[in-house]
Amino acid sequence: MRAWSLGLLALGMVVLACTPEPAPDPIRVRNKVTQKQTPRPAPPRPQPPPSRQTLAAPAPVPAPAPWERAWYPRGCRISSRWTTIVVHHSATSTGSAAVFDRSHRARGWDELGYHFVIGNGTTTPDGFVEVGNRWTKQKHGAHCKTPNNYYNDHGIGICLVGDFTSGRPTRAQMESLAKLVRFLCRECRISPSQVVGHSQVTQRTACPGCLSIAWVQRQAALPATASVVP
Ligand SMILES: [Zn+2]
Repeated sequence: MRAWSLGLLALGMVVLACTPEPAPDPIRVRNKVTQKQTPRPAPPRPQPPPSRQTLAAPAPVPAPAPWERAWYPRGCRISSRWTTIVVHHSATSTGSAAVFDRSHRARGWDELGYHFVIGNGTTTPDGFVEVGNRWTKQKHGAHCKTPNNYYNDHGIGICLVGDFTSGRPTRAQMESLAKLVRFLCRECRISPSQVVGHSQVTQRTACPGCLSIAWVQRQAALPATASVVP
């Protein structure tokens, strides 16, 4: 009996050892193969910074016209204080920045009240633009007194030599005035509509006589190199 049981046990072990493994599930196998064949996604590579060419191009800043270079203040930036431009005549037949500087000091002012003076060919060349010390220092003006002093604090004073209640500005003066207001409106971000005549601000003066402020405003809206047609 014992030998018979041992024989049965041995036979069972043989049968178990010879039983084939169940066939592999074809779907699982296919998935396994697929997983093996699918390449792992590559880790994200650090992207180089966008080149200058791919960035939005800023609005082009026009290069200063050759005649404008002398009008930048030396040694300091243009102040953000300027919001308006006041145009004057000198009410004299001759004159210059130096002449008006002496007369203004004689009246008790600290120095020439204007920021720019445009000659008429008498004391300085016709149409020549003189830069006053106030502009060099970006200092408030002393050319257009009002109760709150707004036009002196925030207005750039331009004086054309001449008396335009009886005469007219020269063509060269008007050309220089047009170029100067274009420069100032662009650099100081002043709207051309904010170019005014002295008499528009204080009705107590005839300054600047027959000089057309509407024409100056139209000129102020044009590019620096636009032709000037008085
Ligand atoms: Zn004036």
